[in-house]
Amino acid sequence: MVLDELSLSLREAFRRFTNRPYAEQQAIEEFLRDAQRSLLKSDVEVGLVLQLSDSIREVVKEKPPTGISKKDQVVHRAYLELVGLLGKQKRILDVSGPGKKRLLFVGIQGSGKTTTVAKVAKFLQRRGQRVAVICADTFRPGAYQQLSQLLQPYGIPVMGSATEKDPVKLIGEALKRLDEYRVRVIASAGRHMDEAVLRNRVEEIDEDVKLDATVLVVDATIGQQARSQAEAFAKAARVGYIILTKMDGTAKGGGAISAVVATGAPIVFIGTGEKVDDLEEFDPMSFVSDLIGIVDLRSIVRRVEAVLSVEDEERAKAMAKGKFNLEDFVVQIEAVGKPGMLASLAKMLPSSTKLPEGWEEKSTDMARVWRSILDSMNREERQDPTILNSSRTKRIAKGSGRSEREVRELVRQYMTARKLLRRMKGSRNLKLPFR
Ligand code: GDP
Ligand code: MG
Repeated sequence: MVLDELSLSLREAFRRFTNRPYAEQQAIEEFLRDAQRSLLKSDVEVGLVLQLSDSIREVVKEKPPTGISKKDQVVHRAYLELVGLLGKQKRILDVSGPGKKRLLFVGIQGSGKTTTVAKVAKFLQRRGQRVAVICADTFRPGAYQQLSQLLQPYGIPVMGSATEKDPVKLIGEALKRLDEYRVRVIASAGRHMDEAVLRNRVEEIDEDVKLDATVLVVDATIGQQARSQAEAFAKAARVGYIILTKMDGTAKGGGAISAVVATGAPIVFIGTGEKVDDLEEFDPMSFVSDLIGIVDLRSIVRRVEAVLSVEDEERAKAMAKGKFNLEDFVVQIEAVGKPGMLASLAKMLPSSTKLPEGWEEKSTDMARVWRSILDSMNREERQDPTILNSSRTKRIAKGSGRSEREVRELVRQYMTARKLLRRMKGSRNLKLPFR
């Protein structure tokens, strides 16, 4: 777990609160104070911390829905606010769609750009992409060698030049020679990059070499100062992603994440060490769950949301009638997490119903895989996945970086779940954990 300090103190705040018999005013204020202190220590901007506490105070004024305690209501809201503070939805570095992809990585020298280019190249390769790297860091001859060394074990080609001083020319040449690779990752020079230089560099390269996306690498140890880099970058890049590095070695990670999130820029990965494998996809929900780590957080969240969802009657009714599309299915999987959608569906079935073995394990961890597949489908396909033929399946697999087998598996599991739901049509006990 990265972010040890923030994690420890937030955990303690939640633990103390949930261990209390009642959530009286004083307990809530103490919880807020503890949580605020943890966030401020992690360099989260004061304004954001106050927003979070205000939102929790708001929900305290509301009467909790029947079946939900005040304490659960507060924990649930605190969880939601933390997820919101750290990004809400998971965002992925999108290399889907037709044609070859060109990704430009920029970042101040020392931010971890070179290392991160290698990490991402390896990540994409593991997802089945044909990847090559172009080192256009013409200021530091060492960068080319560094990248070659990092990627040589994985057979990912790196192209660069010790003599060419014009990065645009270098990139143009290299792209021609690496034409057979679908994703080309370009590492640009960093040096002492100020905002104007950053903008010029991205624009200059983009003009000459049509870029599909730009990735800014930011050192998380600068905490909330990450905001100004992210803002400058947003002005320069058409499609921009952010990767925060050195999350393993900083007490200010919470500040860095929330500052970047406040600019609206999507954080797609975090770097958690010096090795090529030390890269994690950034998912705010699981990040917060890990951060808080209290054993029953998930069950509290699930319980509250199951109750709240009943209020979403139209949807519930439609689902009870067996109208249950692929999006509904993936949302349920995500909401349930472990032990899995199918296991919880199984619980709703008459005990005589026999389910195939291994269903529970299978659905564990599938949420992330299936979300990425779903994100690569178009509207028509989401509405009716039976239209997936082999070329659609291929396209979706490529877009999501998953295998065709996994795409087919999602459709198969969905169809099975839908069948089950139809069988229980009209059941009054049907209560799915909405998100
Ligand atoms: P660049 O100058 O931006 O290209 O940065 P480098 O990739 O050369 O990295 C600078 C230093 O930061 C190196 O010592 C890296 O090993 C280290 N580094 C990069 N990413 C991480 C990370 O996620 N965690 C830790 N602990 N160190 C990192
Ligand atoms: Mg470098």
